[in-house]
Amino acid sequence: MSLSLLRKPTAYQRGISRKKKKTQPKPQPVRILRNDEEAIVAAKEAAEIFRATASERDRNRDLPYREVELLSEIGLYGATVPKEFGGAEITAVTLAEVFRILSAADPSLGQIPQNHVAFVESVRDGTQTQQEFYFRRFLKGERIGNALSEATNTKGMADYKTRLTKVKGAYRINGEKAYCTGALFAQWIPIFTLDEQNRLWMAYVRSDSPGLTIHNDWHSMGQRTTASGTITIDNVYVTEHELFPRFDLKRPQVGHSWGQIPHAAIDLGIAEEALKDAIHYVKTEARPWHGSGLDRLSDEPLIIQKVGEFQQAVDAARLFLRRGAELTDIARANTTEETSLAASFAVAQARIATDHAALLVTNGLFELCGTKSTFPKFNFDRHWRNARTHTLHDPIRWKTQFLGNYVLNGTRPPKNALI
Ligand SMILES: Cc1cc2nc3c(=O)[nH]c(=O)nc-3n(C[C@H](O)[C@H](O)[C@H](O)COP(=O)(O)OP(=O)(O)OC[C@H]3O[C@@H](n4cnc5c(N)ncnc54)[C@H](O)[C@@H]3O)c2cc1C
Repeated sequence: MSLSLLRKPTAYQRGISRKKKKTQPKPQPVRILRNDEEAIVAAKEAAEIFRATASERDRNRDLPYREVELLSEIGLYGATVPKEFGGAEITAVTLAEVFRILSAADPSLGQIPQNHVAFVESVRDGTQTQQEFYFRRFLKGERIGNALSEATNTKGMADYKTRLTKVKGAYRINGEKAYCTGALFAQWIPIFTLDEQNRLWMAYVRSDSPGLTIHNDWHSMGQRTTASGTITIDNVYVTEHELFPRFDLKRPQVGHSWGQIPHAAIDLGIAEEALKDAIHYVKTEARPWHGSGLDRLSDEPLIIQKVGEFQQAVDAARLFLRRGAELTDIARANTTEETSLAASFAVAQARIATDHAALLVTNGLFELCGTKSTFPKFNFDRHWRNARTHTLHDPIRWKTQFLGNYVLNGTRPPKNALI
């Protein structure tokens, strides 16, 4: 059943009819999705549009302002808002599916909303007034970026140098951030900062706040149009209303598993799309090897074997992701130490499986298809560049390490571990 979410021309569609308009269009009325089914339909309709231009965007490093606006218009940026605040509050299983569908079409457009859905969850820790204020805005399609990780003079991404200082009647923030995916497209930037007692806070500031500069300096070989660049915070002022404590949080929490699900779905989407492209190419473009005695490459047993191996890896990844999402839903409904640990491990295993599938298939595609498949006109290397870049997001080796140590020694991962 199609909801024809895009029946009325959206700003995006009007944008393309006006010939390559690249500036941000005026925001349009935003749909409010009512349930999980509508979220899946919306993702499929958006993905169909995104797929057509994904390769060109990658080639030209063309930032997807209009495409992100479309995601807001069709309601996906409000899809995780809790039901009591008027949202669809989609399940983790649906979240995984939405991100898989978008990422298969364009994994940058899959990654841009990842921080949004992760940080919508953190608003649940806010006061009633904060929840009403922010959730209402997300339902209107306003988007969250992030200013979390640090890269300047730090020992690691979470060695925060950004500081929150109390001044008369307000607080002042100064610092530098990196890997701020989605910030260029967002209305809200959650800044992670330490106060004078070294306690961690998250400050939700508007992206046009005086003193906040979002730089368009992401220049990685992959995930090129995620705009995952740096942010300078130079005397940005906030009040208590914008501050959320990130210390003394209620434990246990499921937010981390929730935030990792889109990452697994991004890699699964990349793997699926690369496999689809490889099979299509083998059937329509590739020649049989002259020594094989065959008329079609698709009849070569060695090629058939590879396709079987790749399909197995992709299907295994999909099943791991489904299991991780199901256990996350169980943990969200009944959060205990045990349910949240089970969800963490299951989602970590999904990350391991999707990492494996994405790297295997995007690399193996060329082996299946042959020399011509490396020609720039196909731009198949974007699948590998995207997989290679995105799978570095947080080290997979540590997920395997925590899993092994738990199974072998019963050792639980540390509470702050990015598992
Ligand atoms: C595509 C992608 C998007 C990501 N988005 C986010 C996100 O939105 N939020 C988040 O918290 N984490 C994000 N991450 C995770 C982030 O990469 C890790 O937190 C970080 O890589 C861990 O740092 P590292 O210790 O491995 O150091 P590395 O990343 O290997 O190195 C850090 C060094 O990189 C240099 N550097 C970083 N950014 C720039 C830049 N723009 N220009 C010049 N030099 C730079 C600095 O010199 C710094 O010292 C993203 C990762 C990827 C691959």
